[in-house]
Amino acid sequence: MAATPPQIAHRSYGRAQAARPPGVQDLLRGEAKQRAAAASRGGGNGRRHEERCRRRHQRTLELDVLDCAVCWQALCPPVFQCAVGHLICSSCLAKLPNRKKCYTCSRKGDYNRCYSMDKVLGSMQVPCSNARYGCTVKTSYHQKQEHEATCPHDEPCFCPVSCCGFSGGPAAATHLRHFLTDHGWPSTEFSYGASFDVAVRDEDEMRVLIGDDGHLFLLTVALKPSSCVVDFSVVCVRPRDVEPKFRCIMAFGSWKNSNYYARSEFQVTSTAFFGGMPPECVMFSVPKLCLDKDSSIHVTMHNTLA
Ligand SMILES: [Zn+2]
Ligand SMILES: [Zn+2]
Ligand SMILES: [Zn+2]
Ligand SMILES: [Zn+2]
Repeated sequence: MAATPPQIAHRSYGRAQAARPPGVQDLLRGEAKQRAAAASRGGGNGRRHEERCRRRHQRTLELDVLDCAVCWQALCPPVFQCAVGHLICSSCLAKLPNRKKCYTCSRKGDYNRCYSMDKVLGSMQVPCSNARYGCTVKTSYHQKQEHEATCPHDEPCFCPVSCCGFSGGPAAATHLRHFLTDHGWPSTEFSYGASFDVAVRDEDEMRVLIGDDGHLFLLTVALKPSSCVVDFSVVCVRPRDVEPKFRCIMAFGSWKNSNYYARSEFQVTSTAFFGGMPPECVMFSVPKLCLDKDSSIHVTMHNTLA
């Protein structure tokens, strides 16, 4: 018997390390540069005014610069900063074991209130992400998520079954009801980071996975007759095209018919099923000859932004 179990289908889709969000200092440096460039261009008052107006309309801000450096959630007043300017929200600051040292740069010294950022956050109004679907609401950046969670103008989310005409949204509850009641798909509730087993039966299956934060996922088991492997995929049911947030680990081992082990870790695709199941979402395959009636795969989901 082979000492080392063969490994297949190990695909790892690493997410690039998120860029450090610039702090207030970086923002201010950018503004100063823009001011200097405008001054060097010279010209009369009229032209300067025109230029100012043009830039006011063009000025955009990557909104994630307004996220807390610790929890990556939108900052809301009161905001605190280290001596260098690294920002932190008040709830993260309260949880720091040592607030006399910056969590981001380790510089010694207490955090202080950052009144300028409080002002920026208080004065800023951002449109709802569903503006293109008719929502006219503008909120402060930190209230954006709260509004969008219940916004009635969310992008519709469809059903992956091609002959099913269902569309709904924005609530995950609408989809859950449709998947469980109209299709009768089985479901599994899970906690992030904790492994759970999914039994592999002798038929295609759609299984609804429900995260302990309410996020919905669909796990598909496909036994194509022409293929010698069973394909597994997991997608996140999300109406909006958002940054990938979840990773999934699938593993399978069999020591009955053969000494076999395979594991795959991958980024979970988010989809609204517009046009059906997204292509190339199969990230794990197991040879049919390794499966028997008691087989199951081990699944672990991770929320990478939590
Ligand atoms: Zn925070
Ligand atoms: Zn710092
Ligand atoms: Zn809205
Ligand atoms: Zn359906």
